[in-house]
Amino acid sequence: MNWLIFNQKQSCPTPDELMAGGEYNYRMLFNNTADAIVIADLSTKIIDANPAACRLFGYAKKELLKLSIRHLHPANSIKKTLKVFTQLAKGKGFDKSADLQIITKKGKIKFVSAGFGRIKINSRDCLIAFFRDITEKKESEVLYKTLAEMAHDSIYLVDRGGRITYVNEFGAKQFNAQPIHIVGKSVKDLFPPAVAKRQKANLNKVFRSGQHSYREDLSHFAHGDVWLSTQLTPVRDQSGRISNVMGFSRDITETKKNEITVKNYVSLLDSITNTSSDGILVIDRRGRVSFYNEKFLELWKIPQKLAKTKNDKKLLSYVVSQLTDAKEFLTKVNYLYKHPANKSSDTVYFKDGRVFDRLSLPQKIDGKIVGRVWRFTDVTKDTKIQKSLVKSEQKYRRLFEAAKDGILILNVETGEIEEVNPYLIEMLGYGRDEFLQKKLWEIGLFKDIMASKKSFEILKKKKYVHYDNLPLRTKSGKPISVEFVSNVYNIGRTKVVQCNIRDITARHQTETKLVNSEDRLRAIYENSPIPIVLVGLDNKFISANPAAVKFWGYSEDQLEKLTFADITHPDEVKRDIEKVKLLLKGKISVYSVDKRYIRKDKKIVYGRVNATLIKNNSDKPLYFLTVVEDITQHKIWEREIKQSEERYSILVERSNDAVILIQGGIVKYANPAIEKITGMVPQDVIGKPMVDFIAPQYKSLVASNYKRRMQGERVDTRYEFAVIDKHGKAIPVETNSSVVVLNGQPADMAILRDISKAKEIDRLKSEFVSMSSHQLRTPLTGIKWFGELLLKEKIGKLNQEQRDFVEQIYHSNERMIKLVNDLLDVSHLETGRKFTLNKKPADLRLALSRAIEDQTLTANKKKISMIFGCGLNGKIICVFDFDKIVQMLNNLISNAIKYSPDKAKITFDCQRQGDYWSIAVTDQGYGIPQYQQHRIFERFFRADNIRGVAPEGTGLGLYIARGIVEAHGGRIWFDSKENKGTTFYFTLPVK
Ligand code: ADP
Repeated sequence: MNWLIFNQKQSCPTPDELMAGGEYNYRMLFNNTADAIVIADLSTKIIDANPAACRLFGYAKKELLKLSIRHLHPANSIKKTLKVFTQLAKGKGFDKSADLQIITKKGKIKFVSAGFGRIKINSRDCLIAFFRDITEKKESEVLYKTLAEMAHDSIYLVDRGGRITYVNEFGAKQFNAQPIHIVGKSVKDLFPPAVAKRQKANLNKVFRSGQHSYREDLSHFAHGDVWLSTQLTPVRDQSGRISNVMGFSRDITETKKNEITVKNYVSLLDSITNTSSDGILVIDRRGRVSFYNEKFLELWKIPQKLAKTKNDKKLLSYVVSQLTDAKEFLTKVNYLYKHPANKSSDTVYFKDGRVFDRLSLPQKIDGKIVGRVWRFTDVTKDTKIQKSLVKSEQKYRRLFEAAKDGILILNVETGEIEEVNPYLIEMLGYGRDEFLQKKLWEIGLFKDIMASKKSFEILKKKKYVHYDNLPLRTKSGKPISVEFVSNVYNIGRTKVVQCNIRDITARHQTETKLVNSEDRLRAIYENSPIPIVLVGLDNKFISANPAAVKFWGYSEDQLEKLTFADITHPDEVKRDIEKVKLLLKGKISVYSVDKRYIRKDKKIVYGRVNATLIKNNSDKPLYFLTVVEDITQHKIWEREIKQSEERYSILVERSNDAVILIQGGIVKYANPAIEKITGMVPQDVIGKPMVDFIAPQYKSLVASNYKRRMQGERVDTRYEFAVIDKHGKAIPVETNSSVVVLNGQPADMAILRDISKAKEIDRLKSEFVSMSSHQLRTPLTGIKWFGELLLKEKIGKLNQEQRDFVEQIYHSNERMIKLVNDLLDVSHLETGRKFTLNKKPADLRLALSRAIEDQTLTANKKKISMIFGCGLNGKIICVFDFDKIVQMLNNLISNAIKYSPDKAKITFDCQRQGDYWSIAVTDQGYGIPQYQQHRIFERFFRADNIRGVAPEGTGLGLYIARGIVEAHGGRIWFDSKENKGTTFYFTLPVK
């Protein structure tokens, strides 16, 4: 329970409110209130300040009294305060409250909510100012606001009426507007009807269910259609009602576009495989056909029906009969299936004379082998030419001379060059003599493949060697690429080795370009919003799409002069080069990494990189295909979120209040401040059940509040209970709990504040009040007694003037006695001693009549009539303390009179409700404003509307009335409408 009435309120009390309790309360409150109070004269000089003000500003009272109000505010707030002074000095009305900044003795700036009032001291007009420290609230407000304003997503709040109550800059920009133009508008005003209807429905769903919602929709804006991902979250006000829905929308148009691009790629791949002149077959690791193209069926003459069985064994047994050497073919195939990582190529001969090249590779996904790919190329024509060459010496000679390939004939035994054709001489620039009678490895030309006699032996054994892309230098030093094919065969009786050397420099160049010139691929590449580059094996850029140019800020030409390492953040170059090596070695098939690049303007940007090595048909590496997703914004967000988390965790770690997180009834986190309350360090409590630390009499209350809150029920978030400290002592605390998310699950975050000191002060104060009231009663009774003697003229006659004065003394004294009695009752309730009741069965109507009798005089003065309802016809017997109930009824009736205009009616009625009698007192008075009804039973509380009409009053009557009714086991409540009237009800048990 709190003595300090302001603690219950959101804003500072008005001076009227404070003064309502009279000078006595004023002093007490002045000294004990948690709000800072400063009084200054009109020259702004401080003439009084309470202890809370000394604490807030950090000055001793003596020091404060030497200062002016000007010293207490920083420059930006002083104007507001000075304005109040000038208004006051001119006798004008003035601003009653404001949010301000103050500056403490140590120079610290704090945020306060301030309330101002006029007060007369020694008949001088003075200003009384109340300050409440709202620094923490302000700081986190500013923090949240800044975060929202910096966001590159739209963030907005929508109320139940579908109106925008907040939108950040980014969100407003979607409508080409500033936030102030959007706030207040309704969803209807902002979107076309169909979209608005859908959005209203989504919002309503969140309002109804209290659940988050997530969706992806196409929305229409002034600047075009945008795909938005939208997360809607309910926002609750202090009473727990969902007042707004917070929306968080992100533009995912790019992502959606990418989805479409990927689909295009897939369809492109499909059409490429189906128009290919090669037969392609893919078998998974369980021997099932996972893919084949039409050409494959055509080449092997496989009926569709059989293909559809997807059974590789069936296919094999169907096709082998077509081959000249079925057994050899099957052996090789089976070998390859047993060795899934092997690559192999071979030639397959058919009984009908056809010849196929066969290539077989493992199929990999993310470096894992998932099957095997077979590729068959019909090379019958080429083979026929070769055969005819062998057939005719003449033909051979002619071809040899005229061939547009370089040809070398080697002696199979010695490896010496026996023939070289003119084309090769021309191609390499060496003379005929420089070739003849030399061994192939001696001329040093082919050092990559034929370094020694040993490699020649291998060639002989293999009978066939094929190098697709061999770099050579001509005699003049010009670099060229050649295709090198070597075959061993018989001419007549002698075996020869023929090496065909073809200059493919031009082809090689076009091969690289081939990729670029493919129209459709080019279109995709050019239009992709994602940076794509081709990087050569020397790490230099070969090509970059427009998105890449935009991303790095270099033109394509500039990029082509750079290697990827040149634009990579220095810390990451080494790592990337290692990975590129692994790619080249085939140890990994894709290199995926989040990395930093340095743009041309030296800014650091983040990319999510996927690099793959692209090879040609013969498995020779050509270049790297690198796709880079710009994730700079993600990284910035990641960092900001981390920073704000850090900031919050510092706030929590340094908080003076204990903060604990509870999940599944277990304490998951506690900040260091827990030690101040319990003497236990966080490690002592973390991991233990929460109830272990709660005083026995509160265990069930706290556990049930916790459980209900976790189930989503609305439970009072602020209440008091006691925790147990290290020594088992109960420490009273005030808690403020809220539900948060911890590791994806709801958890309870409780902030605990030690209120033992406050409790102790409360107790001392109540005792003081009780004692001083007792002391006051004796002299007051004395005055009453002498007053009566004088008025009854027992001492002597009074003239009219004397009688008037004595009557005034007598009535003031009566009021004083009532106040002292009320204070005594309050201190009884405060100290928890309750009332000692003298309960007896009696007729409640008698108590009512007595109270009405007491009030008749006052009622008559205002010509107010009192009427009994028919519920009061019979006897109303219940068990109660007659005097106390009369006192309580007196209060209800005097209120009804006091707060009604002249000539109004007051009605009484009674009803039996089960084991209770319920009494109603109805008036036609000023009523109680809706917004203050919840505070009516608080001590010293008086509603705003009656202050003018009935300035006298303590605000204690109803507080005591409730104490009396509850001590009887009954209940008291009311219904009221402003300017219509009020009915107070109370119940008393029959027995
Ligand atoms: P007091 O009457 O001394 O101010 P009470 O505790 O009896 O104190 O009442 C508290 C407040 O409740 C009053 O100040 C008034 O604002 C409101 N109130 C009580 N009874 C009535 C009534 N019958 N009609 C209108 N307001 C009432």
